Amino acid sequence: MEAMELGFIEKRIKEEEIVFCRRKNARRYIASLDRHGRIRVTIPQEGSRREALKFVRENSAWLREQQLKHGELVEKGRLKHGDTIWYRGDRHILEVSKDWGRPVLKVADQRIFLADENIDLSRPLGQRFRTLAKRELPERTSALACRLEVSHSKVSIRDQRTRWGSCSSSGVISLNWRLIMTPSAVVDYIIIHELMHLLEMNHSRRFWSLVEAACPEYRASENWLKANHSELGWG
Ligand SMILES: [Zn+2]
Repeated sequence: MEAMELGFIEKRIKEEEIVFCRRKNARRYIASLDRHGRIRVTIPQEGSRREALKFVRENSAWLREQQLKHGELVEKGRLKHGDTIWYRGDRHILEVSKDWGRPVLKVADQRIFLADENIDLSRPLGQRFRTLAKRELPERTSALACRLEVSHSKVSIRDQRTRWGSCSSSGVISLNWRLIMTPSAVVDYIIIHELMHLLEMNHSRRFWSLVEAACPEYRASENWLKANHSELGWG
């Protein structure tokens, strides 16, 4: 009933906007946004689509607010000519110009041809950084693993939102492509951190003493990441 009160009517959520997911082990209805900002509702085993729709509409004020926030975040992730980004530990200005009539993005030593000069630059830049990460990080990991005498199985370059790296029990090291934006000391620290997890799969005191022995200045790298992480999240 609440949802019908004034102000909410135009904010009414249409059925077509919703992604319905039925889950056997869900105990109740859960509404949230997926990574594209679409409304997702989980239907418990005993539940119905009708009830799910009702549930979503009861929570429409909150969901619309979340969508607004999501939209702002996406907007924030956009990059344009003149914006500043991190690349290999230094700040660089993005510069779009024309080269023989073709729009090109220049940033430090990188040149990226663009389909259109007005596009969001975070995409082509993210692609280029991924390529650089795939080219450089596995090699660097092998060099450090060799020096530290540990053996890993392979390196996978990932698009993790919340972590810089991870290590699986089978010895696969996953690294975030955004490391291309950070200073080389930070890249080395993250790789060493993950390599040391091959010896110690936790964050115990022994683990940190291994990290410190292999990378005495690791705290400076941790601090750099803490200080700058909000500027590294685009893409
Ligand atoms: Zn760790």
